[in-house]
Amino acid sequence: MSRAVEQFLPFALPDIGEEEIAEVVASLRSGWVTTGPKARQFEDDFANWLEGGVEAISVNSATAGLHLALEALDVGPGDEVITTTHTFTATAEVVRYLGADPVFVDISADTLCIDPEAVERAITPRTKVIIPVHFAGRSAEMSEILDIARRHGLKVVEDAAHALPTTSNGRLVGTLDSDVTVFSFYANKTITTGEGGMLVTRNPAIAKRARTMRLHGINRDAFDRFTATVPSWYYEIIAPGFKYNLTDIAASIGIHQLRKARAFQTRRQHIAEQYNEALSGLPLILPPLPREGDLHSWHLYVVQLGAGGGRARDAFIERMFERGIGMSVHYVPLHLQPYWRDRYDLKPDMFPVSQRVFDRTATLPLYTRMTDGEVERVVRAVKESLG
Ligand SMILES: *Cc1c(COP(=O)(O)O)cnc(C)c1O
Repeated sequence: MSRAVEQFLPFALPDIGEEEIAEVVASLRSGWVTTGPKARQFEDDFANWLEGGVEAISVNSATAGLHLALEALDVGPGDEVITTTHTFTATAEVVRYLGADPVFVDISADTLCIDPEAVERAITPRTKVIIPVHFAGRSAEMSEILDIARRHGLKVVEDAAHALPTTSNGRLVGTLDSDVTVFSFYANKTITTGEGGMLVTRNPAIAKRARTMRLHGINRDAFDRFTATVPSWYYEIIAPGFKYNLTDIAASIGIHQLRKARAFQTRRQHIAEQYNEALSGLPLILPPLPREGDLHSWHLYVVQLGAGGGRARDAFIERMFERGIGMSVHYVPLHLQPYWRDRYDLKPDMFPVSQRVFDRTATLPLYTRMTDGEVERVVRAVKESLG
C-alpha cells in the first residue's frame, strides 16, 4: 500500500547547490552574460584541476568539442574514424559533420569499452583517428589504444563524456597521451552546466585552432576585444567557424561543480559499492570494475540480465517503473539505429558483444543526491522485478 505514495525515483538528477546559484546570479548582475571572465576562470580551474600541463577550452556541448577536435585534426571527406558502436550518436555524428566516415567496431565484454583488437583489425589506409569512449565512467583500454595509434600513425580523441573523474593506469583521463579529450557537462553527467563541455589538449596548435573555430573563426574573442586597452573594433575572420562558446552563466555553474567533482565521485562510488554488494548473487552481470588502483567515475551503473533476451529486459524495466524506479538503457547501439545501420549496411552479427549486452542491459538510478534509503529501495525493487 505504501508503495503507491512513494515518490517516483528518477534515473538521474543534477546536484546544484547554493554556490552555483549565487555565482549565476552574480553573472547576471555583472552585465557580462556570454563568454567572458567566468568561462575563462572555468577553463583555468579545469586545466589546474587536471594538473597535467594541458589547455582547457570550454564549449557549449561535448558534441561541439568532438567536432572541433576532429576539425583541428583536419578530418575530412575520404577519412575514416574508428569508434565503438556502443555509444551515443554524438560520438559518431561529428565525423559525418566533416564528411568523413565512422567505422564502427565491437566492445570487449569485460570493459564494455571499444575492443583494441577490433580497432587494429579495422585500420585501413584511410584511417585517421580513433575515438574510444570511457563507457559508464570506466576507462577504456588506453595503453593498448595509444600503442596501436602510435604504431599506425593515428590520432586519438577520447570521448570522456562519462569520465570525470576517471583514471587510466593511475592518470586522470584528460592527461593521457591522446591528442584531445572531450568532457560533457550535460544535465545528467557527473558534473553539469546544463549544457556544456570542455575540450582538453596539450597540443598548442590544436588548442589555437579549436579556440578560433569555437567562435566564428574570429582570431580574437569578444571578451578579449572588450577588455583590450587599445581600440578593439578590429578583428579578422580566418575560417568559417562555428558558434560553440560556453556562456558565463553556464560556466558559473561549472566552476562550483568542478570543485565538488571529487566528492561527487566518492558518493557515486559508495552507491556503486552498495549496489555491488546487495546485487551479487542475483541472476545479474554487474558492471565491469576498473583496473586495480584505478578510479571509476560511476557515471552509470549498468547491469545485464543473466538470462533471456530483450523481452526479459523490457519486462524488468517495466516492473521497475511500476515500483516507481526510473531506468534507462545505455545504449541502443549505433548499428541498430536506422541512419547508421542503413548508411553503412551494419548487421547485429558484426557486433556480437554489443548486441548481446544491448539485449540484456538496463541502467539503474545512480546520482549523488540519492539517499542510502533510496539505494535500498532500488535494490528491493530489483529483487522483486527479477522474480
Ligand atoms: C552525453 C554524451 C555525449 C554528448 O555530450 P553533450 O554535452 O550532450 O554534447 C557524447 N558522448 C557520450 C558517450 C555521451 O554520453
